[in-house]
Amino acid sequence: MVNLLFDFLFPKRCVSCGKFGAYICKGCFSKIEYIEKPVCSVCQRQAIGGKTHPGCRSRYGLDGLVVACRYRGPVKRAITKVKYKWIYDIEKIFVDLTADNLWRFDLPSDLTIVPVPLHSKRKRWRGFNQSEILAKSLAKKFGVDLRDVLIRTRETKSQVGLKRDERKENVKGAFSLNAIQTRFGIASQTGFVRSVEGKNFMLVDDVYTSGATMAECCRVLKKAGARQVWGLTVALG
Ligand SMILES: [Zn+2]
Ligand SMILES: [Zn+2]
Repeated sequence: MVNLLFDFLFPKRCVSCGKFGAYICKGCFSKIEYIEKPVCSVCQRQAIGGKTHPGCRSRYGLDGLVVACRYRGPVKRAITKVKYKWIYDIEKIFVDLTADNLWRFDLPSDLTIVPVPLHSKRKRWRGFNQSEILAKSLAKKFGVDLRDVLIRTRETKSQVGLKRDERKENVKGAFSLNAIQTRFGIASQTGFVRSVEGKNFMLVDDVYTSGATMAECCRVLKKAGARQVWGLTVALG
């Protein structure tokens, strides 16, 4: 009933063409460009199973990348829309798009999902973190664990419009392992270190462009002893 009333007051419109009925109409949905062949997280050239090429690998770098589609057309418009207002139905589209394409990737077992964190100030202002919501839904769908082991310790400006090197610089040192404030005000990371050591992780974000943000998150996890770290985004920019 509540849903019906909501639909009546705020009818669904296609984010791409404006047609009423769904957030991505059938016609626009058929225009989504899927990533048929997985790519390398570093050079973005074709890579079997989404695994980072041996020659592109680095000590603290990503082991692989899962991306469902291109950051174009209806997907780009849908992602831009939920940055400012989260819409459950769009989230469902994102989760399904990702899940339907997961078979293309050669993922390690026993993955723990970690959302790319927003700075607490930014999250308060926006009211939610789209990566976190997406990560939660994915974890639920696949029955895997989710842990907020990372925090964004520094506010960064938007990566939009920045060049590759500037993006790297912008997020450098912006993340750290989550910590619990102890009774004496000293932050303790012990518990979080223990939950990272020797484990496999899947970092979740909405778009993968230069990969600078994910690379920085990955570095923190690997320095804390993570075994394999993969990235997952809905779209590849
Ligand atoms: Zn449409
Ligand atoms: Zn490569």
